[in-house]
Amino acid sequence: MDENKNGLSTRCVHAGELPDAHGSPHTPLYTSTTFKFPSTADLLDVVDGHRPGSLYTRYGLNPTVQSLEAKLAALENAEAALAFSSGMGAEAALFLTHGRRGVICIGDAYGGTLELLADQLPQLGIRTTLLLGNELERLDGLLADGYGLVFLETPTNPVLEIIDLRVLAQKVHAHGALLAVDNTFASPVNQQPLALGADVVVHSATKYLGGHSDLTAGALMGRAELIGPVFNWRKNLGTTPAPEICNLLARSIRSLTVRVRQQNASAQRIAEAMARHPRVKRVLYPGLANHPGHAVATGQMSGYGGMLTIELDGDTAAATAVADRLKLFAIAPSLGGVESLVTQPVTTTHHGLTEQERTRRGISGAMLRLSVGLEDVEDLIADLQQALR
Ligand code: PLP
Repeated sequence: MDENKNGLSTRCVHAGELPDAHGSPHTPLYTSTTFKFPSTADLLDVVDGHRPGSLYTRYGLNPTVQSLEAKLAALENAEAALAFSSGMGAEAALFLTHGRRGVICIGDAYGGTLELLADQLPQLGIRTTLLLGNELERLDGLLADGYGLVFLETPTNPVLEIIDLRVLAQKVHAHGALLAVDNTFASPVNQQPLALGADVVVHSATKYLGGHSDLTAGALMGRAELIGPVFNWRKNLGTTPAPEICNLLARSIRSLTVRVRQQNASAQRIAEAMARHPRVKRVLYPGLANHPGHAVATGQMSGYGGMLTIELDGDTAAATAVADRLKLFAIAPSLGGVESLVTQPVTTTHHGLTEQERTRRGISGAMLRLSVGLEDVEDLIADLQQALR
């Protein structure tokens, strides 16, 4: 069976699963840190890469880790995947492997990514440039100057800006550079960046892939020639996830499509209800026809996602008061879990920025970012309405 020809839900359930002598339908959890061989010649075969096999868990050469990686590759229709102990672990290994000629980050990105790019990589002599989505006219010049990697999220956090991946991939490839997309917000259910021209996909698997706010992990997917060289960085940075986490993540991915499609549907309903609410000035959700990125999102996404931002007709204190009155939406960072969460970007993801920088990024104190979970959507809308009242 060619696993990649199956639909996404089938791949979520079956891809990468290893047969088990006892008839387990899924790959068992191998907690072993090391694996024994019948002879030194057999050990050398694996050490020298003459045949695949299990060897040492930190290397990722463990059946539970490798089984998860085959599933992760199948999710994005990629040739290869590597799992990491966190999304940041995946990003750091990507930048150290493929970003050494310089990294350009487009649009708003996760705070940890921005810190790594703006403060830490330059300490290693790696040049980085952060461009907003409306500064793309500078891209050609930077690429002509030899930057090797362009990195972005779409939709972005928290304003859900949509960046056209097909157009961007053409531009980046014309200069011989690579395009990496953090697909955490969309999830593979709603967006397949490799099919749109990206070279590498990054995930914080802590979010939708894990889906239950109970594990921390990351992933890189792409062509084998690009993912292969990352292996030794992960091995020696020691950012391979534990088999226990891989087993839990594979368990979660089996229900990924069902969860995300429900979250898409609920987010759309909530966005429409909030757009009609008199206390709400703006709803930022790519599924709404008046969202500036709606047309591009419709062309490159198969669902608009479970994340939305509402901007109140009021100030920072008003938004804080609404967040504090919510009962079902919990005040917590992170996203993508079965439970609904609310964050006020100025108090969490964008807390460290100056007022001027927030304004440049279109972020206001009156914004609340919602991660829609799997509760009944009527209950979620009722919760928002009582908090806004
Ligand atoms: N990418 C995005 C879009 C995120 O939201 C996050 C975390 O919030 C990360 C990457 C980093 O992932 P992790 O917390 O798993 O290291």
